[in-house]
Amino acid sequence: MSRVLIIGCGGVASVAIAKCCQNSQVFTDIMIASRTREKCEAAKEKWESATETRITTARVDADKSEEVLALIREFKPDAVLNVALPYQDLTIMDACLAAGVDYIDTANYEAEDTEDPRWRGIYEARCKREGFSAYFDYSWQWAYRERFQEAGITALLGSGFDPGVTSVFSAYALKHYFDQIHSIDILDCNGGDHGYPFATNFNPEINLREVSAPGSYWEDGHWVEVEPMSIRREYDFPQVGKKDMYLLHHEEIESLARNIPGVKRIRFFMTFGQSYLTHMKCLENVGMLSTKPVSFEGRDIVPIQFLKALLPDPASLGPRTVGKTNIGCIFTGIKDGKERSIYIYNVCDHQECYREVGSQAISYTTGVPAMIGTMMVVSGQWKKPGVFNLEELDPDPYMEALNQWGLPWVVEENPRLVE
Ligand code: NDP
Repeated sequence: MSRVLIIGCGGVASVAIAKCCQNSQVFTDIMIASRTREKCEAAKEKWESATETRITTARVDADKSEEVLALIREFKPDAVLNVALPYQDLTIMDACLAAGVDYIDTANYEAEDTEDPRWRGIYEARCKREGFSAYFDYSWQWAYRERFQEAGITALLGSGFDPGVTSVFSAYALKHYFDQIHSIDILDCNGGDHGYPFATNFNPEINLREVSAPGSYWEDGHWVEVEPMSIRREYDFPQVGKKDMYLLHHEEIESLARNIPGVKRIRFFMTFGQSYLTHMKCLENVGMLSTKPVSFEGRDIVPIQFLKALLPDPASLGPRTVGKTNIGCIFTGIKDGKERSIYIYNVCDHQECYREVGSQAISYTTGVPAMIGTMMVVSGQWKKPGVFNLEELDPDPYMEALNQWGLPWVVEENPRLVE
């Protein structure tokens, strides 16, 4: 029996809400709070007749910590699930600390305006220290560790698919298959087709910022940074087929490098079609991916936010997306003195997800783990004071929940490795 405040009501939140409503024994009461209250009301209307979970809604601007705190004091949740945007991570964590409630999210903190002089200096110092220059990193949220410990509350960072399930796969591989993991390749393949020349599967602003950042990977104790999209490999994905994939910087590399002892190399690859890449390059070249406001006819406009308004809403892709996703990790290492390699992955079908909850598979593969992570904390299985990435906790109950709640996984021995 638990009460959970869900902040945000976009593509990922829609699935997390649907899954909490399927799991009424754990989630007896949820409050959906977001910037646009009508979306919360629509979600409530969609699910309330089919669930025993009691649903209430509210409007909140989560950029304002005091608004989140007031809502927590009113609703008195056991935990807050943040499925708004990475820009709100710190304000929501501050409110959780002030109120003494647990916190769960799906993406690490990122400043909204990276050109803002308040952030610029901190970024530059971080890039020099760490050796990668993507805008997002865990240092901001890891800095809350002691305060969460002292308050006796849990923060679970990144309970989506990647990060999230891929982090749990890594802990599971280490616990059951290896004495020592040498390398991790995280492969994120979307074999789906929505029929548009260009659209993003989750929030366009966050997606395009991630993809257009320099790529980087972890090797022999340090970061290697490369030009954006400059490393391409082809891979034949089970149930999807051959796809081109590109090396990206991704947040779980940063935490896995710390938490998987002795790992020598961690890389992250994501598949992209040629049409996506051509459009993205063109938009970047004309300045449409910039987060810096430009003056247009007397008004300040942020180009990437204007672009977001033009692109299809990811939540609207559900009915038209066909095909499958395959997301997983290839591990190499040593077990009982012998070399071993395994591939743990999940395959998800866009249309099946749509039939079940009305969303495409990218929102589904993120929203289901958001619910599971929250369940792990509120049920006490992962309740520990401090700030944690998922690979730091016992993977077994989470792996079991993935099978139960719609993301079954497969372990394949001796997979084809990525060169
Ligand atoms: P959407 O843009 O669809 O939804 C974001 C929601 O947050 C919207 O409802 C929006 O409100 C709300 N929101 C934005 N700003 C505020 C604010 N200041 N106060 C309150 N609510 C706000 O995004 P997605 O659902 O696609 O993504 C959600 C999160 O999931 C992101 O952080 C994303 O990075 C993460 N993600 C993680 C993945 C993983 O595997 N780990 C994969 C994919 C996404 P409004 O409706 O008014 O705009």
